[in-house]
Amino acid sequence: MTFSSADSAGPRRRVGVVDAERRVVHDATAVLPPGTGMLELIESWDDLGSVLRNAAGDRPGLPLDSVELLAPIPVPRRNLFCVGKNYRDHAVEFGRSGYDTPSRSEDLPDKPIIFSKATTSVTGPGTGIDPHFGVTAELDYEGELGVIIGRGGRGISPERAFEHVWGYTIVNDVTARDLQRDHQQWLLGKSLDTHCPMGPYAVTADEITDVAALRVETTVNGERRQSAPVKDLIFDIPELIATISAGITLLPGDLIATGTPAGVGIGFDPPRFLTTGDVIEVTITGLGTLRNRVG
Ligand code: MG
Repeated sequence: MTFSSADSAGPRRRVGVVDAERRVVHDATAVLPPGTGMLELIESWDDLGSVLRNAAGDRPGLPLDSVELLAPIPVPRRNLFCVGKNYRDHAVEFGRSGYDTPSRSEDLPDKPIIFSKATTSVTGPGTGIDPHFGVTAELDYEGELGVIIGRGGRGISPERAFEHVWGYTIVNDVTARDLQRDHQQWLLGKSLDTHCPMGPYAVTADEITDVAALRVETTVNGERRQSAPVKDLIFDIPELIATISAGITLLPGDLIATGTPAGVGIGFDPPRFLTTGDVIEVTITGLGTLRNRVG
């Protein structure tokens, strides 16, 4: 994970290992080559993975509550890959809502719908989601499992896809629905600054026995809105990796937001858009809770 901790030089980004049970973080700065951030760490995981594990050891850590957690990958090297309409019930609610222009269809996609989110939309856990008044009036949430690519590659087969997964995190694919609808192409409606909360930390793949068994759950102001297991994905993780990498080289640290379950704001009639002060919490089994407030 990445965190910020003040020292004599002022706050700066550090890489650390979280012990979620003991609620501590072990600063790994001293054991990693100078300047190593999460991207460099993932890129050199074969060498640095064991170094990082030793960083935890038995030494006392910093209380988790005393540091500011940042997005695990605060500045991705390029746009996040995202997947649209990848849970059956969500594809239906989205089609029914009228926001899926130009087609108003409840049909399930035959192939994965891949779009992207700008790197500048990434923000950390606990930060404010900018409502961007004047740009959008229809702010919505989408709790999602984020896949972090480890070893890069092109032409990755579904059978070998998990060999390329470094780990997982939580992404809230915040969406300006009016921009998504009116501009027809989704990039703009998905990419406003702070509209990609990520975290609270990243969990390596070896710590997750069965990713399909994880459950994605989203609450708004404590009210449960979304809840589905990852196994409900229409196109599963191996298929997504195979589809994207068929003609695009995946790079270490690339992120894939796998899609959101039913229960987003436009799934209600009338739609329930987010407003200032709303608190959105996305929880995934074993990955923690990503909490952000609008405003
Ligand atoms: Mg989404």
